Amino acid sequence: MTMTSIPDSTAGDPRVPARRDRGASVPAAKEIAPRDGGPLGGEQRFSVYTGAELASDAAIPTAAQLGLEPPRYCGQCGRRMIVQIDPVGWWAQCSRHGRIHSNEIAGYR
Ligand SMILES: [Zn+2]
Repeated sequence: MTMTSIPDSTAGDPRVPARRDRGASVPAAKEIAPRDGGPLGGEQRFSVYTGAELASDAAIPTAAQLGLEPPRYCGQCGRRMIVQIDPVGWWAQCSRHGRIHSNEIAGYR
């Protein structure tokens, strides 16, 4: 007796829509109060744009120099931050060092 492979009748069925209800299922990030001066406070040990450990000759991307780019990594621990951009600014949140808003920082827009 031989096994015959039966094609899965539901795979690739165009009548079955793929689940892509993004947005509605993503929970809003719970705000964490800034700690130890926040992600951009205190002694900056990591690049907030690349997450790399800071060296004396670290290059800052041009868009970042112009204030067009929000920080992506925590300056204190180098963790990737949750970043939300809105028409008037942005906030960025480290799971350990809390959230910082663009309007709290001089030099950022
Ligand atoms: Zn951090």
